[in-house]
Amino acid sequence: MFVCSHTKNRLEGKVALITGGASGLGKAAAHKFIQNGAQVIIADINTELGPQVANDLGPSAHFVRCDVMNEAQVAEAVEAAVARHGKLDIMYNNAGIVGPVLPPSIAELDLDTFDRVMRINVRGTVAGIKHAARVMIPVGSGSILCTASMSGLLGGLGPHPYAISKFTIPGIVKFVASELCRTGVRINCISPGPIATPLSVGQIAQFYPGATTEQVAQIVNGIGELKGAKCEEIDVAQAAVYLASDESKYITGHNLVVDGGFTCYKDIKLPSPDQVLQ
Ligand code: NAD
Repeated sequence: MFVCSHTKNRLEGKVALITGGASGLGKAAAHKFIQNGAQVIIADINTELGPQVANDLGPSAHFVRCDVMNEAQVAEAVEAAVARHGKLDIMYNNAGIVGPVLPPSIAELDLDTFDRVMRINVRGTVAGIKHAARVMIPVGSGSILCTASMSGLLGGLGPHPYAISKFTIPGIVKFVASELCRTGVRINCISPGPIATPLSVGQIAQFYPGATTEQVAQIVNGIGELKGAKCEEIDVAQAAVYLASDESKYITGHNLVVDGGFTCYKDIKLPSPDQVLQ
């Protein structure tokens, strides 16, 4: 029998933990998850915004301070979710930073900067996967999500540490899925295109000293390829609801690209007939 799912309450009764949930994509996901019936733990390093966002989202949201660089704090965030709600169904490893955009060449790469970005974007993600798996494997279910990026699919789309960190995420997801599929726990990632959040606006602003936030946000919004559309937080949040919900019950090890075709398209600059035939 084919059963159509309802458009709302797709996460009814589920408990989700979202790292980096105080801003941007994590905040939008928290909002969308709650609209769909989930209880959400927002785990973030930002102790000013985090509690505010949780307060704005209402009683289904709760903030815990968590620096994903610190494994003990990731473990504590998972424990807090389980202590509060008795279980963890969805772990969304989303916290991330870009780091400085310069220097442009691998030959000048500062490895201390590289280590810091990898520590948050990769090690932090792995820590989240590990501690979610510890509570999900015994119950034989759960959905782990990770935020990758279109910068991890195509060269030249970000500073080296950031792009390299994001190239690793789909690989981690595929590798871990190969183990977790035998346990009933699913793991997937989402690769968003450019969205005007504090992260991307801060990154692009480094190229436009003196530009206003609105001006830079406009530049970010103009990076997409899909006619008549721009990538928004809601686009990623909807993808996350799908992967977090039972609608995607047979999907694991997948990288869901939400980039409006950006990584499908290459503008080939052929010489004009005049240039060739002169
Ligand atoms: P954002 O800056 O709005 O939000 C990132 C959040 O992560 C912030 O609340 C921040 O406090 C938190 N954070 C940073 N370091 C942390 C740490 N050590 N521990 C816990 N929390 C920490 O940025 P965003 O655009 O929402 O980014 C979210 C994710 O999306 C990142 O992984 C980013 O790489 C990815 N992404 C963003 C875009 C984009 O264009 N905005 C595109 C592709 C991928």
